[in-house]
Amino acid sequence: MQTIIHKALAPLSEVAEAEEILRSCVHCGLCSATCPTYQLLGDELDSPRGRIYLIKILLEKNQFSRRSLQHLDRCLTCRACETVCPSGVEYGKLLDIGRNLAERRVNRFIGGRIFRWLLTRVVPFPGRFKLLLIPAQIFKPLLPAVLARRIPGRSTPPGHKKVPEEFPQQSLEPQPKEHYQRSMLLLTGCVQSAATPNTNRALERLLDAFGIRAVYAADAACCGALDYHLSQHQTARKHMRRLIDQCWPLVGDGVEAIISTASGCGVQVKEYGDLFKDDPDYAVKATKISALTRDVSEVLIREIQAGPAKPQSIRVAYHPPCSLQHGQKVTGVVETLLERAGISLLPVKETHLCCGSAGTYSILQPKLAGELLDRKVSNLEVDQPEAIVTGNIGCQLHIATKTDLPVLHWVELLERIYLD
Ligand code: SF4
Ligand code: SF4
Repeated sequence: MQTIIHKALAPLSEVAEAEEILRSCVHCGLCSATCPTYQLLGDELDSPRGRIYLIKILLEKNQFSRRSLQHLDRCLTCRACETVCPSGVEYGKLLDIGRNLAERRVNRFIGGRIFRWLLTRVVPFPGRFKLLLIPAQIFKPLLPAVLARRIPGRSTPPGHKKVPEEFPQQSLEPQPKEHYQRSMLLLTGCVQSAATPNTNRALERLLDAFGIRAVYAADAACCGALDYHLSQHQTARKHMRRLIDQCWPLVGDGVEAIISTASGCGVQVKEYGDLFKDDPDYAVKATKISALTRDVSEVLIREIQAGPAKPQSIRVAYHPPCSLQHGQKVTGVVETLLERAGISLLPVKETHLCCGSAGTYSILQPKLAGELLDRKVSNLEVDQPEAIVTGNIGCQLHIATKTDLPVLHWVELLERIYLD
């Protein structure tokens, strides 16, 4: 797609990147069939191709309207369109560039601006988030059900029923290794560390069984994803630099990998190398950190060998997060791990579709997020599972608002099967 860049924008390096991405789009429209917002709204401007067109106009005219911004706001950044695009269009990157330029050319309504500002001042800071979460958890029984369901429990995973306890155990047979010869750096995540601390605790125990010591960066910062996707790129980069600085000494100590149990954080950290490629102070460190970063499934698949597994009686439905399947392009790995643990997963329709969580999307676009959630939960519940598992904190909390089933990180399920 040929774009004549406005002269005021031409010097910007990100605009050159955007222009190159635009050139790779052949306008075939194949992506529309998998786009959740196009499926719900049926409007071309709420499809990937339509949004690409809007960004092209922005780059040519150096102007954007509030109405056009709404179409960009409605995008989930789920990147399902990337997965099916035959031309390899880097839609996610283009959208981030387009949104960032658009944000500075459109005057949002004051309420929306304040709300977005508050989100960036609370969610990425575990201390502040906990400060809000703890009283909410205490007063949860007094709140209306619709609100109470959005608040995760204090020590148990979100959901309103516990997972049945009668798991036959499998035996973990780690390779014979001297205890703690290896170490991996676990990213704590901001929301996850406050809302579901069980997840990383479960992973610590599993790693321990393989002689891998879990280490943490002191006072670990947010990965920057939330600010980045809200078009606050400068603040996002501050978070990212801080996290790089905190991880760097441990990289020097020889950690084998940097692991995230929240695929939404993992996808962002894997992109640091690209985001800092022009930064003379951070390019090398960011590239190294991205190269070391793995989703937890990519690590465990190498440790948990295939072998005879005692079949588990529990009926489980799995939701693969978009940030894992479309963002990190990691597919089928969690399913294999669960299979190796003896779980036969129930079939789920439309696994490529987003659940509507998408970072802050469920807060900023509650109507669309709610419609996607209804569709997701009915697909997950159709064969009456006893538990739903997923691999990203956002999906986990969002899905738990709509179901009475326990919603767990799949790592917790493996921990119970192998180590309880
Ligand atoms: S993004 Fe890809 S699939 Fe969508 S219109 Fe462009 S080339 Fe076609
Ligand atoms: S990222 Fe998701 S919601 Fe956005 S255009 Fe692509 S498929 Fe549609």
